[in-house]
Amino acid sequence: MSNPVSNAVSNPVSSSPSNAPHEGRKPRLLVQKYGGTSVGTIERIRAVAQRVASARAAGFDVVVVASAMSGETNRLIALGQQLSKRPDPREMDALVATGEQVSVALLAIALHDLGVPARSLTGFQVKLRTDSAFMKARIRGIDAEQLIETARQGVVPIVAGFQGVDDEGNTTTLGRGGSDTTAVAIAAALGQGVACEIYTDVDGVYTADPNVCPNARKVRRISYEEMLELASLGAKVLQIRSVELAMKYAVPVHVRTSFSDAEGTWVVNEDESLESVVVAGVTSDKNEAKVTIRRVEDKPGRAAGLFEALADARISVDMIIQNPSADGSTDMTFTVSKNELDRAREIASKVFASHEIFVREDVVKVSIVGLGMRSHAGVAAKMFRLLADEGINIEAITTSEIKVSCLVAAKYHELAVRALHDGFGLGA
Ligand code: ASP
Ligand code: MG
Repeated sequence: MSNPVSNAVSNPVSSSPSNAPHEGRKPRLLVQKYGGTSVGTIERIRAVAQRVASARAAGFDVVVVASAMSGETNRLIALGQQLSKRPDPREMDALVATGEQVSVALLAIALHDLGVPARSLTGFQVKLRTDSAFMKARIRGIDAEQLIETARQGVVPIVAGFQGVDDEGNTTTLGRGGSDTTAVAIAAALGQGVACEIYTDVDGVYTADPNVCPNARKVRRISYEEMLELASLGAKVLQIRSVELAMKYAVPVHVRTSFSDAEGTWVVNEDESLESVVVAGVTSDKNEAKVTIRRVEDKPGRAAGLFEALADARISVDMIIQNPSADGSTDMTFTVSKNELDRAREIASKVFASHEIFVREDVVKVSIVGLGMRSHAGVAAKMFRLLADEGINIEAITTSEIKVSCLVAAKYHELAVRALHDGFGLGA
């Protein structure tokens, strides 16, 4: 079973792309989003202001989106949790939204100091409307006209990422990493072809984690589809929803670092992702655990009963294996994320009260992702062979059109990733 990632963005950005004519000069619009490390200190904020100023000097009307200073959102959440085990989500959103308000105001002050007109704007002020799902709200619309007008007047709008406002006027937030989604949504609302630069703490998307594979390469271009798979597999460069939105509105996204001028990775349409390789990257996820129910009667309804109960508890299952067996019973295995393991085990032991249930946490899921798999046969076979050659046993397999994942013992994590990375010729 593939990851429970919906490709559909249920609440699209409703503002239509503006093609309003602007007489005389018409600089290109550009969205720059600065993540927590990029605005983590006063010196960094000064450096970001300089970067914004250079983009303007290069002929862009820049709309800036900023995250909270690094560590700030965690600090605020911890404060709320010290007062209550289950703090009210509305108040948590009111609390965490302050992080972004600090950084946008500081950034505006830094720009003023460079002689650049700038104005900080909260989610409320840009009318970034969302639904009322506190802590995981979805964007419904943005007042793009106001942003375009401000930018065209030579004032840099600096928008607080991550936050919005619902129909009742409550402050909402978009879920962790939500500033990425704010930035992409704004780029989409500003018009066709407006690019979104995401400044983050890595300088691009790599063929594998460079800490595991020292010869990992920075990918110049990658497709939205591949990026979605990588994000859902735990490569936390971009919030998944921001990639879904970028794909839906064809927003070119440039993932890069504010610590240098180096080009990062462009996330673009399939036909523009030039690197014609079968496998784009290898990734791994240590956050899954395996549950096995022994000797389940091999008859209709057993799987349905179990997975309905898990679904009712909102536990998402990733991999599933079941083998038919000769004596009328079979082992049933599935994986869930580690933080849901206890609940999953409890549910399984209710559904299968008289069965032995085993859980294993020392496993890791290694995956290969690439559009080329659609047109090349034997990619999965090659993956299995590469693992076998290292003596690594595969405990579960799952595939999608552009991904193959294998669950292996955690002790083989680095060996497996390296074997696949080198075996598919991804190294520098
Ligand atoms: N500050 C928020 C967070 O840490 C949003 C973001 O940084 O994108 O999750
Ligand atoms: Mg982030």
